Amino acid sequence: MNAYDLVLALNQYAALDPSPVCWTRWNSGGLAASGIYCWTCAMAEVVIGHGEIVVYEISYESDGCAHCSICNLILDYHLTDCGVDEELDYFHGLRLTTPLPKQDAYHIARIIEAAPENKDALRLAKRALAKATEPHLNPEAKEGTHHGID
Ligand SMILES: [Zn+2]
Repeated sequence: MNAYDLVLALNQYAALDPSPVCWTRWNSGGLAASGIYCWTCAMAEVVIGHGEIVVYEISYESDGCAHCSICNLILDYHLTDCGVDEELDYFHGLRLTTPLPKQDAYHIARIIEAAPENKDALRLAKRALAKATEPHLNPEAKEGTHHGID
């Protein structure tokens, strides 16, 4: 299985529809201190007068996985080289559970997409896919978590 097939298979398994990234600016004109938001949360902030949306980004370049600062929804992102290293470190310290949590499949697909030649990443993706496609091996596995998703 090549990198492209792995991304496709992991994305299909994840079956998530990540929201594009929204950046907002406060009404005072200054940039928001921090945070990226999903469309729903960004609009909610606008409606209550907290600011305006200034950027609406698809495949936002990120140094790590991207979640909405308010509701924690997965956002559409593309990892930088530094982000690839960070995500590989994270997954090296994690025991993948069976069945593979859908969010983990999505995050691992982003690693391969950004680093299709990286042998560590390919190994991780193959391991993950095995856990995604053979859930009967460990029926008692609990849903896993990733980066503050509870
Ligand atoms: Zn949100």
